[in-house]
Amino acid sequence: MHYTRQSPSKINLFLKIAGKLSNGYHEIDTVFLPLNSPCDEITVAFIDAGGISITTSSDVVPCDERNLCWKAVDVYARRAGIEVSCTIHIEKHIPVAAGMGGGSSNAATVLTILNDKYQLLDKIVLAELALSLGADVPFFLQPCLSTATGVGEKLVPIDFDYPKLSLIIIAPHFPVSAAWAYKHCCVADDIAVTGQMTAVLDAVKTGNIDDLSRLVRNDLAIPSYKKFPILSIIKEKALESGALCVEVSGSGPTMFALCKSDQHAKEVASILTDSLPSSISILTV
Ligand code: ATP
Repeated sequence: MHYTRQSPSKINLFLKIAGKLSNGYHEIDTVFLPLNSPCDEITVAFIDAGGISITTSSDVVPCDERNLCWKAVDVYARRAGIEVSCTIHIEKHIPVAAGMGGGSSNAATVLTILNDKYQLLDKIVLAELALSLGADVPFFLQPCLSTATGVGEKLVPIDFDYPKLSLIIIAPHFPVSAAWAYKHCCVADDIAVTGQMTAVLDAVKTGNIDDLSRLVRNDLAIPSYKKFPILSIIKEKALESGALCVEVSGSGPTMFALCKSDQHAKEVASILTDSLPSSISILTV
């Protein structure tokens, strides 16, 4: 018996570093937007014995106990008190270590598949297990436009409909460690955050891209801009090409650019494809 599921990516439309905890973790205020593209595909096949084995189309993602899918099976089986043997295939399209939450999404997808099959854990326990795997994993259990506070685990899903955002994803394809970005970021000193996140959500709800473009923010990207000058070059080129705003997602280096419409996004993407090195992928969403 096997299950095949899409494993979406995310961008952070807003990310403020709100504080640093004594255990070294950072408190953030963020707005997560899930994306169906780029998206991985996970196939889990349950077998009678033999433990966990993983294959992937990526040559940079580990296939052993370090893989977050492996960890997801392990924590689920321990908590549910069962033995699970399965093979997992990850068809990777989400850039790795790139701020789009690929590993976290894969882990949440595996947890969801396991609970669909075995139905042994309730939503609260599943969310606890997700958080034990990583701060972004709980979001991917039910990926919808959400705000998150705490270390990213205090999620509030937003239940209104909103017009589609026209986006370009710009992936420079080098890794940035989220741990490194957190280590080098600073706590922001402005305080009116609740208002800022509400304003972001209002702009998304009403499709007011001009307002949204003014509100997009990512404090976690500041170390990446300093270390990787290519990010400022990409930003400048994308703005010159007509994008309304350009920002890094999460710890980066993947960037997103907001455009007025899908047609506008195609035009901007075409100019960017001509002006940026071919090693940088450009995707319209
Ligand atoms: P986040 O935004 O959640 O911090 P990210 O998008 O920046 O994450 P990932 O693609 O999740 O980064 O990869 C982070 C690290 O996790 C990489 O070093 C990668 O090798 C490891 N990893 C483990 N399992 C996976 C997986 N299934 N997919 C991708 N990366 C994985």
